[in-house]
Amino acid sequence: MRKLYVFDTTLRDGEQSLGITLNIQEKLEISQQLVKLGVDIIEAGFPASSPGDFDAVRQIAREIKGVTICGLTRAVPKDIDTCYEAIREAEQPRIHTGLALSPIHRQHKLGVSVEQGIQMAVEAVKYAKKYVSDVEFYSEDAFRTEPEVLARVLEGVIEAGATVVNIPDTVGYATPWEYGELIEWIMKNVRNIDRVIVSVHCHNDLGMATANSLAGIKAGAAQVEGTINGIGERAGNTALEEVIMAIYTRPARFGVTPTINYREIARTSRLVAKITGVPVPAHKAIVGDNAFSHASGIHQDGVLKERTTYEIIHPETVGIPQNRIILTARSGRHALRHRLEELGFAVDNEVLNKVYEKFLRLADQKQEIFDEDLYALMGEKNGANRTQVALKSFSVSTAGPSRAMATVELETGEGAVSDAACGNGPVDAVFKAIDRLLECAVTLEDYSLKSVSKGKDAMGDATVKVRTEDGRLFVGRGLSTDVIEASAKAYLNALAKVKSQLAAVR
Ligand SMILES: [Zn+2]
Repeated sequence: MRKLYVFDTTLRDGEQSLGITLNIQEKLEISQQLVKLGVDIIEAGFPASSPGDFDAVRQIAREIKGVTICGLTRAVPKDIDTCYEAIREAEQPRIHTGLALSPIHRQHKLGVSVEQGIQMAVEAVKYAKKYVSDVEFYSEDAFRTEPEVLARVLEGVIEAGATVVNIPDTVGYATPWEYGELIEWIMKNVRNIDRVIVSVHCHNDLGMATANSLAGIKAGAAQVEGTINGIGERAGNTALEEVIMAIYTRPARFGVTPTINYREIARTSRLVAKITGVPVPAHKAIVGDNAFSHASGIHQDGVLKERTTYEIIHPETVGIPQNRIILTARSGRHALRHRLEELGFAVDNEVLNKVYEKFLRLADQKQEIFDEDLYALMGEKNGANRTQVALKSFSVSTAGPSRAMATVELETGEGAVSDAACGNGPVDAVFKAIDRLLECAVTLEDYSLKSVSKGKDAMGDATVKVRTEDGRLFVGRGLSTDVIEASAKAYLNALAKVKSQLAAVR
């Protein structure tokens, strides 16, 4: 079995598509979870793209150990200098440089000839090699590049010291047969290809990113690039969890094996969805809410008699616990700790004390506490540390379907403040009162509410996206059994991030 290297680009290809500014704390949280998942390479960002991205990559390189930290660059020395500055403190730094050599890009984007393009590529790799030994070259839009041109540039960059060559289907145009054939052709026709790792990087415009990646792996690629939940430009990147579980389920078909902690898959998916505010569709393969639920009577009957009749993956394999213990207000600390540890949280006494109080408060409001509630409680705990403003109390009165008046009291670092406002419905009124208190110039871009766990008393999970005057997007989340309170908390969470970002700039 060949080793399959898993290259995660959630924080680069994934994040750049969201238009959302994740703060450094959030990027570190995702990176830590990716290490637990066992990915081999984290592409942490594109350091030359903005000072914020540079800082985030540098912080990740400093703090996240046990994994290769990679930064993306264009094939220009200035980018490579900046990238090296950002990743130099990593245990294993990698520079990922390259350019597009397809006819469309040569003519319309770069305005270079084939010869000039190849020279730029080779020089960029040589330049990066002065800084680090591990240099990956990407031939953007490789699938639409003439194979002969691709072969020449690959031979050149391998000669120049590239350790990995990435063959992206940047626009998601390939079919699995063609993409597999291209990788096979490269393995046979690029003279020095045996000296490097070949990497697949596919996009999902025709819904074939996972299939194309697998075809490339079967044909000889030893690294797969993608994102958690498949987030990314347009229709998204390859969903890493799908590739990983396809290989796990059908190992003989691929001849490779990744070193992944499979039980961290569900948790990683949830964390990325929570932090980015991009929800996972219920029917999404591997990580969707319904991926392992059986609705039809015939299927349920079959699974009860013999699980494998309709289930090809055991949910516990990807970290979805099966024996659902339901906790209540009468459950003690010990039971709570036991369940939290089973769900994979590290619970010391301090954490337990804090969570237990919240747990009791929640158990008072709703009778049964499900695993989803516990995830929410633990998530909220993390989120709360980052928010300097807290909701102290609020009240809403409504008169008719669209008129509402809200009074909101906030606890800020400098004491409590309160104000009132009218709005078009209760949520709008609460948001307007918060606007008056925090004086933060943002526009509300998106607001959604869904329930976690089951029953009428389920917790509401609100997600709010706000845009600042300079065009950046921030996400806030809030949880409560009261949907207006959940909404208020989400809005405050988003505004707190805007404020801390503004403070960091000053
Ligand atoms: Zn991409």
